[in-house]
This record gives sequence, structure tokens and C-alpha cells, in this order.
Amino acid sequence: MDSAEILAQIASEVSTCQACALYHSRKNAVPGEGPANSEIMFIGEGPGFYENEQGRPFVGAAGKFLEELLAQAGLKRSEVWIGNVVKCRPPGNRDPLPEELAACDKYLERQIAAINPKIIITLGRYSMGKFMPNAKISAVHGQMRRIGDRFVIAMYHPAAALHQAKYKPDLITDFARLPKLLEQARSALAKSAPAPAEEAQEEPKQLSLF
Ligand code: URA
Ligand code: SF4
Repeated sequence: MDSAEILAQIASEVSTCQACALYHSRKNAVPGEGPANSEIMFIGEGPGFYENEQGRPFVGAAGKFLEELLAQAGLKRSEVWIGNVVKCRPPGNRDPLPEELAACDKYLERQIAAINPKIIITLGRYSMGKFMPNAKISAVHGQMRRIGDRFVIAMYHPAAALHQAKYKPDLITDFARLPKLLEQARSALAKSAPAPAEEAQEEPKQLSLF
């Protein structure tokens, strides 16, 4: 299976999953969406009202703000992968419970393995907690950390910035630095990549024009 097929397989499993109690109240599971070869994965918390209606991530007010922030970084929504740590809506948009996060994590793990992004951007405390369990978001937001084969950047959740204006300037600044951070991530990962196979190292034959 190629990575797009693996993502489709995961989405299909998520749509009928009953591994935690959130399946009782979902209308549509929200597996996440985006290109299977995305360099950047955005990981939010969980579906809200509109996401549960449509089965798509970040389609409400927070999603509109996320698209504006992406545009500011020169990125289109269609170029990045967007998903969540839990795939079904917690009733009334309550915070996900530890057992729900634990039950749903296997899907996100498989999605990350299939996409193999250069950068994971966590939006909000719950997805940050997966990668930086003891970090304080106010201290680490916007900083790029190498974790294994990729980089992780924690950012405030766009919905938090919509509800509490004090988070907005930091979120805007963090997104504005994204093009530079992506360049850094690309070059760091290119350097640490395994050496290409011998035949690939051969210089292509020059075509003589004279
Ligand atoms: N907030 C999230 O964390 N995820 C969504 O998909 C929508 C809003
Ligand atoms: Fe399954 Fe995740 Fe939905 Fe729980 S939230 S039912 S683990 S897909």
C-alpha cells in the first residue's frame, strides 16, 4: 500500500471505530485530511460542532482563522495535512479524557508514519502533550524541536486565540516564522538523511551542445 492508500484505510477504520465512548455521540468521525506527502502536519484537539456535521477538520470559525494564518505563511490549506488527536467530537466540546486520547492515539501514530512529515505543528495543549508531555505552551510555543526523524513546533490553538485576544499576536508571529523554520527543517533533515544509493550519486551525462 502506498501512503495515500494507508491514509484511506485508516479513515475507513476510524469511521466505524468503537474503541472509546466518543463513538456514541458522533455523527461523523473526522479522520483528518491533506496530501499523503505533506511536509507539514497540523494536529488540533478534536472535532467541534461543524466538524462532526461534515466529517472534516477545522471547518468552523477556528478553521477559517487557521486558513488566514496559513495564507500569511504562504501556505494553502490544500498543501498541508490537518487533523486531531481525537477523531470523534467530545460532547459539548468538552476536553478529551485521558482514556479517549489513549484509545485514539494509534490512528494518529499510523497517520504520522504514513505521511512522514518534516514538521508537526501541535495546536493547543492536548496535541502538544503527546510530544512534549511536561512543556508549558506559554514557554515553548513557536520553538522548533527535533524529535526523532522530524521536528515539532507547539502553537496556541486558533480557537483559543479567537476567544482570548491575548494569544493572537504570538500565534500570528509563530505562523509568520513558519517559512523560515520549514527551510531549516528541510536542510537539517537532508543532511541527516541516509546516503543515496551508489547509482544515484553518479553525475548525469552532460549533453554536449557544441
Ligand atoms: N478545533 C480542533 O481542535 N479541531 C478541529 O477539527 C476543529 C476545531
Ligand atoms: Fe475511535 Fe478515536 Fe472515535 Fe474514540 S475518538 S471512537 S478511539 S476514532
